[in-house]
Amino acid sequence: MSISREQQLQYLEAMGIQAWTARQADPAVPVEPQPAAMESPAPAPGKADEPVPEAPTPDVFAASSDVAGLDWPALEARVSDCRLCDLHSSRTQTVFGVGNRNADWLIIGEAPGHDEDQQGEPFVGRAGQLLNAMLQAVGLQREQVYIANILKCRPPNNRDPKPEEVVCCEPYLLRQIELIRPRLILAVGRIAAQNLLNTQTPIGKLRGEVHRFRDTGIPLIATYHPAYLLRSPLEKRKSWQDLQLAVRTLQEQNG
Ligand code: SF4
Repeated sequence: MSISREQQLQYLEAMGIQAWTARQADPAVPVEPQPAAMESPAPAPGKADEPVPEAPTPDVFAASSDVAGLDWPALEARVSDCRLCDLHSSRTQTVFGVGNRNADWLIIGEAPGHDEDQQGEPFVGRAGQLLNAMLQAVGLQREQVYIANILKCRPPNNRDPKPEEVVCCEPYLLRQIELIRPRLILAVGRIAAQNLLNTQTPIGKLRGEVHRFRDTGIPLIATYHPAYLLRSPLEKRKSWQDLQLAVRTLQEQNG
């Protein structure tokens, strides 16, 4: 898919980064190099036409042995009935994940918030709209990617997930990753990035480089959560850089 420059500018404006264009004329501000994807942004080629390679299952998925072998419907049903941690008692519903189950891009956030808990879908509301705009700015529609969270149930008052909740819930996400086999993981926000990378390093130091998701070899790029960007719009420029890095990483991977 490709979008016109005009559409791209509209998406960038929706992200609140229209000022970046103006700053390019300011010689005091370094101009962000424009990769080819910026002029003709396109998602990585789909996997539909490619043979699915037989790959050994990385050890990381051994942790999901309880859900190993579950197909999508069975996994979704298991999550829907899950009472493994206390969050089941305060949720309106579980938030399983949404999108293309053969996606190249897997977007992983923290946990459902109020709107997500009500609607049963991750990244809705204002933060979701900003995420959609971010994706559209690199030529991706929301429906082309898969979006999930570290936790499937909303923590009360949007508090941070507790470690034991993450441990309980992680096998579901790992099975989703195993089923999707994405070419790239975008970890959105501190909680997602730190849990996926098993680190306490601040998000500001995790972003801007290509990590690997545990022993899978899947490239993982961390960036700020859209909810944070709504509160700190000056950081949008860094998130835009992270998205460009993600596009380049996929392009290089697809060779
Ligand atoms: S957060 Fe995860 S582990 Fe906890 S009840 Fe919900 S689905 Fe189960």
